[in-house]
Amino acid sequence: MTDSNSQDGGFGFATRAIHVGQDPEPITGAVTVPVFQTSTFAQEAVGKHSGYEYARTGNPTRTALETALASMEGAAFGVAFASGLAAEDTILRQLSPGDHIVLGNDAYGGTFRLISKVFGAAGITHSAHDFSNLSDLADNWPANTKIVWAETPTNPLLSIVDIEALAEVTHANGAKLVIDNTFATPYLQQPLSLGADAVVHSTTKYLGGHSDVVGGFVATNDGDLDQHLRFLQNAVGAVPGPWDCYLTLRGAKTLAVRMDRHNTNAAAVVDLLNSHAAVSSVLYPGLESHPNHDIAARQMSGFGGMVSFRAAGGRDAAMRIIEKAKLFTLAESLGAVESLIEHPGVMTHASAAGSALEVPDDLVRLSVGIEDAADILADLEQALA
Ligand SMILES: *Cc1c(COP(=O)(O)O)cnc(C)c1O
Repeated sequence: MTDSNSQDGGFGFATRAIHVGQDPEPITGAVTVPVFQTSTFAQEAVGKHSGYEYARTGNPTRTALETALASMEGAAFGVAFASGLAAEDTILRQLSPGDHIVLGNDAYGGTFRLISKVFGAAGITHSAHDFSNLSDLADNWPANTKIVWAETPTNPLLSIVDIEALAEVTHANGAKLVIDNTFATPYLQQPLSLGADAVVHSTTKYLGGHSDVVGGFVATNDGDLDQHLRFLQNAVGAVPGPWDCYLTLRGAKTLAVRMDRHNTNAAAVVDLLNSHAAVSSVLYPGLESHPNHDIAARQMSGFGGMVSFRAAGGRDAAMRIIEKAKLFTLAESLGAVESLIEHPGVMTHASAAGSALEVPDDLVRLSVGIEDAADILADLEQALA
């Protein structure tokens, strides 16, 4: 890990998640960071304040969250937002009309919608590329590219992008690399140490981990980018409230133990699906047959809890499996303690229909939770039967 936060004290990941930015509250000794539910802060004299003036600009609960998550990503700086998309929007606001965004050809539907519809309307162009073929990208580098935006593993096809190699191509062409680390989490993958300029998260997913809060986060070691994000966090105002920060911080403390369990439960699910006649293919970076498995093994310390598969009987069979699942709740979102199932083509990725990012209609996406593996497997077996 490079450029570790100065408050890290040389501690390991799980220790930092629980302690960095979270010293006992100085007045009462409260061990847990309080929810500072206030919109403003009393000032001692004009221009003389505690470091907090107005809660859009700064709030101590938010500071604790930002400090802890930055430490977890091995970042010098971290900025929290009201949602993952608010975080993405704030990064992209450094672009001007005529600038170009290079995007992977498999991405979260909302990211694609933001880049194509919102920034597209503002005169910022984009193109989608297959990041598994980087020499093709290097040979056909789009003019005016300022940002390269990649997820790995991708949503929902679990494709793997070589972060180090993509950073090299990006920097050789004078652009900045943003990695959406939502699927892997900082516990399994540290993109800044592999050359990324910024990491973005939907903390709604694994970092929060309990399906009870929406949030976003950006981590970076780039002081100029941090200044830009801080300015816009205040100037645009897409900030998370103190309760949301508290819930996200509470969830993030247990990320390490949850991810260990997500990893083992997902591996058990992959074993079951891989030998099942109702399944035509399983998409999981931990499978040796998965494209770029060797890269995943190198840049990740585990393969995560997301598993996608294609139903042998096509779209209708996929729908039947989804409907029959009981323990797996039919819902969008992912990364929480409970297992979820969904149909990306109709649900999360409907906005990509007809584009280069369209997904197959026999695809089922699982977010494997941390329930007992035996119960998860029994539910899938009855749903596939
Ligand atoms: C959910 C998600 C987002 C968007 O985050 P929100 O918190 O829903 O705004 C971005 N990227 C990925 C990979 C996601 O799964």
